[in-house]
Amino acid sequence: MSKKPEPSFYESVQQNFDRAATFTNIPAGLLQQIKVCNSVYYMQFPVKIGKEYRVIEAYRVQHSHHRSPTKGGIRFSQKVSQEEVMALASLMTYKCALVDVPFGGAKGGVKISPRDYTSDQLQKITRRYTTELVRKNFIGPGIDVPAPDYGTGSREMAWILDTYQTFKGGEIDYAGCVTGKPVSQNGIRGRDEATGRGVFYGIRETLHDKQICKHLNITPGTEGKTMAIQGLGNVGYHTGRISQQEGGFKIISIAEYEGAIYSDAGIDIEKLLIHRKKTGSILDFPGAENMDQRKQTLEVKCDVLVPAALENQIHRENMKKVKAHIIAEAANGPVTAVANDYLMKKGVVIIPDMYLNAGGVTVSYFEWLKNLSHMRFGRMEKRFDQNTYTRLVDLIEKQSGRSINQKEKDVIARGADEIDLVRSGLEETMVTAYHQIRETMLRKPKIEDLRSAAFVSALGKVASDYMNMGIFP
Ligand code: GLU
Repeated sequence: MSKKPEPSFYESVQQNFDRAATFTNIPAGLLQQIKVCNSVYYMQFPVKIGKEYRVIEAYRVQHSHHRSPTKGGIRFSQKVSQEEVMALASLMTYKCALVDVPFGGAKGGVKISPRDYTSDQLQKITRRYTTELVRKNFIGPGIDVPAPDYGTGSREMAWILDTYQTFKGGEIDYAGCVTGKPVSQNGIRGRDEATGRGVFYGIRETLHDKQICKHLNITPGTEGKTMAIQGLGNVGYHTGRISQQEGGFKIISIAEYEGAIYSDAGIDIEKLLIHRKKTGSILDFPGAENMDQRKQTLEVKCDVLVPAALENQIHRENMKKVKAHIIAEAANGPVTAVANDYLMKKGVVIIPDMYLNAGGVTVSYFEWLKNLSHMRFGRMEKRFDQNTYTRLVDLIEKQSGRSINQKEKDVIARGADEIDLVRSGLEETMVTAYHQIRETMLRKPKIEDLRSAAFVSALGKVASDYMNMGIFP
């Protein structure tokens, strides 16, 4: 008997949605409206590469217009397809709702492998893609706001901003047309590390959850816990770095495009990055052994497995080999619906993508707010706070008779900079959302997994927006 093919990424998202929907009282028609993608824009445009013209395929999908603007990254990958972009756009809606970022979900994809192009050629493609979006009114600070995703970064966002500005320079809020920009070009401090930092906060909350740790039969806390990471891109790198530096994690295995490495003693992520820059590969890193195949990282015995690359990485064929207590979905959709069900039954805790990697869009929201306010966070209050705290410290010093040295004073009386406020806002967002998910599970005891609870929380918020509009009374 032939096996049923595994559901696609989009089908997996739909299945997870349907499962969660059974835990809600949202009417069927409204559920259907929330589920579908509102606008799908498929484009093909020519770009001159060397002496020849190439036709590039690209997409922008706006999943939900229940809030404006819509928001979501742009991915450059050879694997981009309409279904993939639809799945990613859908996840953006639920992600934004879950962490109270007031946007609808969207996503873009350009079907190219960035490795095949020079920086100049990538710039041409990015600018042409942006032009297509402008022409169809698919971009703008109040319409749809792209950001980085797999295969793109602040460089591409700067090109998008500049192209948009060429057409719409007179718009006072033009800088809010895209987020994830370089700090020098209307970006915000802390956006680069935001997704990874958010992933760390989410893992930390889970490991401080006594009930979850009891279920997993592990001691609560992060110190000394082992972690394996698939993907050393922006998200994987910052997740590993922050988990190591602020959480005391031991990173025992890392997989990248060129292979995978393992070390019982732990891998220093910052040193590994330097090694990769020097040699072009993570392999042969001193103190670590090369693994035979890169997929072995997913099969390592560890406390937390962090898939931080692409979707569908843990599936029917390899799910039985996973030995982690916790799977932390830093990437979007790394576990298929089939693998999700199997691992759930086995007792593995999966921290779902729509929650765990929401740090990126959260700080994008802060960047967008900064662009609309035309002012850096902290500019107004930093000095005022600093002076107030200094007076307080001086008073305590006088009253207590204990002298406080200048170094201590500087630490206590410091006013917040933009990066402090961004990190604080991000931490608050991730901690609050975690507890919302857990409260949902307490309110609805039939829900057994964090993903369904996250979905239920998000669906409730989107549904209530629709109801408040009077569309679905
Ligand atoms: N691409 C990121 C995500 O999947 C960030 C989106 C954004 O900042 O708008 O969440």
